[in-house]
Amino acid sequence: MKPFEYARPTSTAAALDEAAHRPNSKFLGGGTNLVDLMRENIEQPDALIDITRLPFSEIREREDGGLSLGAGARNTAVASHPLVRARYPLLSEAILCGASGQIRNMATVGGNMMQRTRCFYFYDETASCNKRQPGAGCDAIGGVNRIHAILGASDACIATHPSDMCVALAALDATVHVCGPQGERTMPFVEFHRLPGDTPHIETDLKSGELITSVELAPPDAASGSHYRKVRDRSSYAFALVSVAAAVSIRDGNVADVRLALGGVAHKPWRAFEAERLLRHAPATLERVRFAVDAELAAARSFAHNHFKIELARRTIVSVLGGLMALERAR
Ligand code: SF4
Repeated sequence: MKPFEYARPTSTAAALDEAAHRPNSKFLGGGTNLVDLMRENIEQPDALIDITRLPFSEIREREDGGLSLGAGARNTAVASHPLVRARYPLLSEAILCGASGQIRNMATVGGNMMQRTRCFYFYDETASCNKRQPGAGCDAIGGVNRIHAILGASDACIATHPSDMCVALAALDATVHVCGPQGERTMPFVEFHRLPGDTPHIETDLKSGELITSVELAPPDAASGSHYRKVRDRSSYAFALVSVAAAVSIRDGNVADVRLALGGVAHKPWRAFEAERLLRHAPATLERVRFAVDAELAAARSFAHNHFKIELARRTIVSVLGGLMALERAR
């Protein structure tokens, strides 16, 4: 492991100043992914800037009825918070599907968003990987790619984003707050992570030296039923092959509103905008769900070992949305 310097600022200004003066530095939250990557020599920062002393761990109700999640809030604290469980059960469910209890106790909201792919070849220093070394090639494309992407991939990278929490936040239309050398700004959560394109090593829209401060949730739709389902190789401590975050409300037999996001299928949490468009104001029937899902997955592209993911995604979405619609009709 490469030696590194360590700083522990106690104010946001001091943290940004440290980052500005240490170009090859990383912000350290819970360290549950970053430290592993440093041990494997995949990440080699010259300095770690520990941000756990900054005032970003609060979970706060907003005046508009929404919620603000501090970037330093631990995953366990978010999942178990009474307001999250009552108003955003989708988020609580998704977080509790991820990792282990011990890891969730350490992992933070901001760190969860910044975690990196679990592509086998990304972690293997002897493999060619455009994400680790731009221009090197991608051994996953012709290799073992059972866990890889079926949507939005490129000829440079077919990795997936590993988070469960982020899939729920994409479905919930969250907003990301960041601060940096140019001041504060916000961006829609669905625009925070990037598709790989020709630059798979650039994974988010964060600019150099910027720090995530919080994630804001809009007031919940009380009329919506929601559910997060994760399909994986074993029942705990495994990443999603496919996951589905969905929320639906029904009025007079039609879909009044629907949110649908997928995990385990793309380089970023995949918001299924096309399926949502085809479902909104349409009859709340399984036939319509199948039609919308087929349209969403029409662009799916599989590789040697992950063709099953397309059918798995189709069946999981139909099952989750069909179940929610049945519950909503019975309310
Ligand atoms: Fe690297 Fe992406 Fe290819 Fe995996 S899929 S080897 S992360 S370039």
